This record gives sequence, structure tokens and C-alpha cells, in this order.
Amino acid sequence: MKTPYYDVLIIGTGIAGLHTALSLPTSLRVLIVSKDYAWECNTFYAQGGIAVATHHDDIALHVKDTLEAGAGHCNKEAVTVLCTEGPVVIQELIERGFAFDCDEYGRILYTKEAAHSTNRIVHAGGDATGRVVHLFMMEQLFFPILYNTQVTDLLIEEGRCYGVRVFHADKIFNIYAQKVVIASGGVGSLYEYHTNARTVSADMQGICLSHGIALADMEMMQFHPTAFVLGNAVRKQLLSESLRGEGAQIVDEDGKRFIFNYDERGELAPRDIVSRAIFDYKHKTHKEVYLDLSAFSEEHFKQRFPSIYFNMKNIGYNLPYQQIPISPAFHYSMGGIHTDLSGQVPHIKNLYAVGEVAHTGVHGANRLASNSLLEGLVFSKRVASDITNTIKIDKEIIYFSESEDILIQEKDKELKNELRNLMWCHAGILREEKNLEKALNRVKEMLELPIGKLLKLRLLVSREIIQSALTRKKSLGAHYMKEEVSL
Ligand SMILES: Cc1cc2nc3c(=O)[nH]c(=O)nc-3n(C[C@H](O)[C@H](O)[C@H](O)COP(=O)(O)OP(=O)(O)OC[C@H]3O[C@@H](n4cnc5c(N)ncnc54)[C@H](O)[C@@H]3O)c2cc1C
Repeated sequence: MKTPYYDVLIIGTGIAGLHTALSLPTSLRVLIVSKDYAWECNTFYAQGGIAVATHHDDIALHVKDTLEAGAGHCNKEAVTVLCTEGPVVIQELIERGFAFDCDEYGRILYTKEAAHSTNRIVHAGGDATGRVVHLFMMEQLFFPILYNTQVTDLLIEEGRCYGVRVFHADKIFNIYAQKVVIASGGVGSLYEYHTNARTVSADMQGICLSHGIALADMEMMQFHPTAFVLGNAVRKQLLSESLRGEGAQIVDEDGKRFIFNYDERGELAPRDIVSRAIFDYKHKTHKEVYLDLSAFSEEHFKQRFPSIYFNMKNIGYNLPYQQIPISPAFHYSMGGIHTDLSGQVPHIKNLYAVGEVAHTGVHGANRLASNSLLEGLVFSKRVASDITNTIKIDKEIIYFSESEDILIQEKDKELKNELRNLMWCHAGILREEKNLEKALNRVKEMLELPIGKLLKLRLLVSREIIQSALTRKKSLGAHYMKEEVSL
């Protein structure tokens, strides 16, 4: 087979990967690889919308809200980039022909989500923003996608990236590229309860660790307060933040709204506070907790939240009349592969990371709702711009061996499930030093077992999350050490 060589290779078909591709000149040879079908990504499942300043004066307020949600841990420069360039990328999307939901006069509808001081969330398809954006970008895409292609390694030598090793159609082979963009999403599959796509399993974060590339803020894991976690599906049904923004209430089995006991903002408190409140209340009272949708009429609910309406109907819930039993679930990774504001990975030439996999410091210790799709748009444009400005005609190439460790071993599935439970119980919403130590020891033991490479990558990232959590002794944002503060 002829050695595949591209100008740019993009790993991932979520908003970060697709928008990088859409922002590159079509004269470049670009290949996008995706572990599964293109739509099996978190972007596709995003519901609520995209946060964006509604007018010039709102930019400063959007910055302020983001910094406050991030608990003083954000990189202010990154946040300023996000909020200032946000309206530009949204306008560009509209100019490409994308239609956000509008009122009958054609004015864009802005909704409100937790910890935003104003209505600034644009949405599409009601509660199907991610799906509609994804479809739109796929339709606009000029470059090819190689599906069912899992990246198993980065080809790195002497501080420079030359491409990737992949597993595709039962074969392992290398794909060479002058620039490699990691847009592979977060870490959802490390946790027992999560809202993420099944493809999102921290492979690339693990590969980076195995090459000594720094991850940052890995203790900062966000849990969504309102997921429907009953049932066998691996990905748990998310009940969007917008529901609470538009009137849904959290109640116990006696109909009591207990969130106000934890925070005066009630259901509109930041999601880490609401998550911990539900977790703590369930633990202390042994009562079931529900999302009450009686503020909505059926007609409005069906039109505004069609995905939730039909998904829940399929499993027997008659919304908005029935209350939905809820629990928090892992949702989003603020930590990731550290990059500069052009998306470049420091010390590794020609390697970029963007989207949820990356850490620019934009989310600090807690992501403000609906800032991540915006991050995907803003920073992918920056990555594409940096690539366009630095790509060379002359290609330097060195060839790497195509041998790879065994990817999957017999006992991996069992260990993978044990790991998920360990992470949920000990490195989840409420953390304690002794439990983190226990989890760390077990992860280290697992790393010594005869395991496949893919499990090893998950373990490396889990170890990093636990070690980072142990290092940060005091609670901050989404990282909550139990002994210190009682709710
Ligand atoms: C249920 C849900 C609802 C959400 N709602 C919102 C919302 O309303 N607003 C908002 O701003 N954010 C929301 N988020 C968060 C947001 O959707 C994600 O942060 C964002 O979509 C991430 O985009 P991404 O492009 O970085 O990664 P993803 O969209 O997750 O894409 C990752 C891609 O990488 C590929 N990949 C992974 N590993 C490999 C590998 N080893 N080899 C090859 N390919 C690989 C995957 O197959 C996939 O194509 C939500 C998330 C979830 C799960």
C-alpha cells in the first residue's frame, strides 16, 4: 500500500474537528479520522445550545460570568478570546446558512442557563443544537473522513509529530501528516455514569501521557446535575440545563424543593453546586429526586424540547406530566492536553489539540453552561489559522515502524467496568483523600496486569485524574474534597 501522506490530519468529527476542517483552505490535503460513525460524538448529543454575547456590552458580562463559574481558576486571556471571538464565529455560521431557532419575526431566540446573568444561549432544532450543527457541518465538509479508524498512537520523534498510527479494518498502519490536530473529545467512558458518546474514552489524553506530554487541570471534572440514569444504556439521557432555565424544578418524592437549602439561586445555581446538592440530599435522606416539568404545557414542551420528549416517551415517560427521576452523572472534562491559544501543544512541533480534549484554561475549575460548543468553534478557527500560516510546501518525513502493542486482552472488559465504578465512587462528585489513595493503588495494580493498550490508556488518564485530585487538597469549583466543607 502507498504510504498515506496528508498536509493535515484531524482526529475527531465533533464540532472541534469539523470546524477546523471547514476553516482550512480547500487547496490543502486534509484527512479526518473518526473512531466510529461521524455522529457518535458528544457534539451530536449536545442539547441546550451555544453561549454567545448578544451585543458588544454583553462581551464583558460573558467574560465575568465565565470567570466566576471557573472559580477564579480560568486563564483570563483565553476567556477574553472566547467571549470576544464568539459573536464572530456565530455570525460566520449564520452567513454559511446555519439557522438558529428564531421567533415569528425572524429574531434569534436566546435562552438562559445556570450561572449566566442574561439570556445568551442560541439554540437550534429546539433541544437538538448539537445534532443540527453537526449535520450542517457534515453537509458543508469538503474533505474526506475515514470512519471506524481509531488512533492508537502519535508518531513523535525529537519533539516533532509526524502523523498517527491507526487501527482500521483489522489492520494497524501509519498515516503521515505535516500537521496533526487532536479533536478527540473528553473522558466520559472512564466513569460509570456519564452522558457522553461511547467513543469518548480518553484515548488521546492517554497517548499524550505515554509520550510525556502534559495534561492540565485533570482533577477538574464536571458532573451534570440532571441525568436520567435508570436503564441499561451506557450513555445516560441528559436533561438539559435549559429545562431549569425555563422553569423545571428539582423536587424530592414529597414534592419539596430542597435546592434552596443549599444555594439561594436554587435550580439556577452553577451545576457543580446543584450536582452536589442532589448527591448529598439523596445520600442523607434516602429519598428519590425528580425533575418536575409542570411549568410547561405539552405543546410548548414538545416543540421546545423535542429530543427529550421523544427519547423519554420511548422509554415510557409521558412528559411534561410525569416527573423524571434524576441523578448527577459525569458530563465534561475541563482538564485536558495543555495548549497555547493557537491550539499548539507546547514542545511538540506540528501537534495541536482543540475542543474538549484541550486545556486552554478557558473553563477554569468549572465550565459555564454552553461555553464548550463555543470553545470548539472559536479555538478550531485559531488552529486552522495557525496551520494555514505555518504549513510548508517542503515535507520532511521520517518513517516509523508499524508494530503496535496488543490493543485488547481477554480480561480488559471486566477491568474496564471495575475502573468505571472506581472512578465514579472515589474520583467523582465528592472526594476524600483516603478513597482517592485507595483508587490510586488499585489503578497502579491494574497497570501491572497483562492488559491491552486501550485499557492502559484509560488507566493512565485515570491515574492522572486521581493524582491531580490528591494534589489539590482544597475544594475548588468542580473539585470537591469532602471533609473540608459540609453542604
Ligand atoms: C449530552 C450532552 C449535552 C451537551 N450539551 C451541550 C450544550 O448544550 N452546549 C455546549 O456548549 N456543550 C454541551 N455539551 C458539551 C459539548 O457537547 C462537548 O464538549 C463538545 O461537543 C465537544 O466537542 P469535541 O469536538 O471536542 O468532541 P466530540 O464532539 O466528543 O468529538 C470527539 C470525536 O473524536 C473521535 N475520537 C475519540 N477518540 C478517538 C481515537 N482514538 N481515534 C479516532 N477518533 C477518536 C470521536 O469518535 C469523535 O468523532 C454537551 C455534552 C453532552 C455529552
